[in-house]
Amino acid sequence: MWDKGWRDQAWSSINQHWDIIIIGGGITGAGILREAARLGLRVLLVEGQDFASGTSSRSSKLVHGGLRYLKTAQIRLTYDSVRERERLLREGRGLVIPLGFLMANYRKDRTPAWVFGAALGLYDLLAFKWGHRHYDAMDMRELCPPLNEQGLLGGYRYFDAQTDDARLVLRLIEEACQDGGVAINYARVTNLLSLNSGQVCGIVLQDQTPGSSRTAEVKASVVVNATGAWADELRAQVSGRARLRRLRGSHLVFPNHRLPLTRAVSLLHPKDGRPVFAFPWEGATIIGTTDVDHDLPLETEPTISSAEVEYLMELVQWGFPAQELAYPDVLATFSGVRPVIHTGKANPSKESREHVLWCENGLLTVAGGKLTTFRLMAWDALKAACARLANGADLLSQAGNHLRILNALPDDATPVLPHLNKNDDLNPASRQRLLGRYGTNAPAVLASAARSELELIPGTLFRWAELRWAACAEAVVHLDDLLLRRLRLGLLLPEGGLLCVDRIRSIVQLELGWDDMRWEQELATYTDLWNRCYRLNY
Ligand code: FAD
Repeated sequence: MWDKGWRDQAWSSINQHWDIIIIGGGITGAGILREAARLGLRVLLVEGQDFASGTSSRSSKLVHGGLRYLKTAQIRLTYDSVRERERLLREGRGLVIPLGFLMANYRKDRTPAWVFGAALGLYDLLAFKWGHRHYDAMDMRELCPPLNEQGLLGGYRYFDAQTDDARLVLRLIEEACQDGGVAINYARVTNLLSLNSGQVCGIVLQDQTPGSSRTAEVKASVVVNATGAWADELRAQVSGRARLRRLRGSHLVFPNHRLPLTRAVSLLHPKDGRPVFAFPWEGATIIGTTDVDHDLPLETEPTISSAEVEYLMELVQWGFPAQELAYPDVLATFSGVRPVIHTGKANPSKESREHVLWCENGLLTVAGGKLTTFRLMAWDALKAACARLANGADLLSQAGNHLRILNALPDDATPVLPHLNKNDDLNPASRQRLLGRYGTNAPAVLASAARSELELIPGTLFRWAELRWAACAEAVVHLDDLLLRRLRLGLLLPEGGLLCVDRIRSIVQLELGWDDMRWEQELATYTDLWNRCYRLNY
């Protein structure tokens, strides 16, 4: 779909009247695009940088009900989230996978264990799925040997799910484009267009790809602002007062051998009693997250602060003391900014995670919410958008919002590589993973690869073949698109993957059409970005 020449084609097709223009290519925009394209609407999504480069590649990657929201009586949010989790587990097999959790209880905890037991009971009831169970201290240590035994009283096991957030965004966008939607990355909205009445009727778009000075004025019946933490900036153009509180959350990534976990572990931080997770992801172990006000400009990449590093290290050293984890063990760090609706709470963690919809002079803003609830946000936005389209109500009533959000895939028992003989084909888990990540493109990913590229990239669950595919068919513009989002090597490999940069170059440089000078520039930019924002500088 994103073959050579797609970008020029997309730009030459945008000069038409669209039903809906979506600004922002994170999970919120991708969800709206997906559902709007399915309704048969003429829909265009524009993303100023890379798809998912905002918060949607920097989450904790959990597809969850948000157990802690029960504490603040956000029962509706928890109910919606667990229902969406179940749907995504059904439809996104291989991409959204079940994850067992252990919630450890210690003598020092301010909240008694029975409260967690009661909350987990309600959590399971909301999902119509009884899965939690209590264990004593000895069983907890057996389930998670690195866990601190000092003061351990016992704990609970329960289930949620996890995903690759950036890949979820990309799969939604790809499937929407297969259904007739159009999505362009590195296309930034510099201004909104308005009628004399002040009603927003379009956008001014600027191509951000290297060497291009393309601009366009594009009109639509409805313009949706799905720019997450940036939403107030576009709202300011229609005199909307700032309403978002930007909260930074940061994570530390450890190699699995330094903190081997088979399940997620939820611990209450010894300092402030906040729940912090340690969980396995893509062969590594992640610790997170923090929740602090982010007062820095959004043009600069969010980065973990030294106070956040200390906070997370304190938890990990207390929770898993025998591992003797220290700063040099950290593979990478990453930070994201939550777009949370500002209600003036003193404690950032007490701000509601519900989403909101604002309509100001025709600009429809959808903000807040969670990765997990993107489909519900998309439907709320679409209902409001369709109310302004001539045939919108009919389209909505015909479609209903119960259809699959991710396309059905061939059974994972079907060989992904039909041209190889049975012995060469991948094991069922690998097949399912590829189908989940690439959807119906999975066979093409492997078919385009040289045989040696079918091997795993050491230390990860990715194959070299995925690099080639991403470089030639996934709208990559810069090296960080490839290494941080299409594949997550920048988070999972030592030195952000730079130690194997020669092999990476041999696979992708030609596919990307970069000459040596461009390669060197991209490499220097990526190295600088990784050192500033992803390396643990201590
Ligand atoms: P974004 O992903 O930020 O997308 C907005 C996009 O708009 C950006 O890509 C940006 O480049 C683009 N944009 C901005 N201005 C313009 C412009 N002028 N023109 C064009 N494009 C523009 N949720 C969960 O369900 N589970 C979790 O485990 C979880 N963990 C989290 C952990 C952290 C640390 C954080 C910060 C959030 C977490 N969340 C989680 C919440 C979830 O990640 C966010 O709610 C979600 O990713 C927000 O998506 P979005 O599309 O609204 O915003």
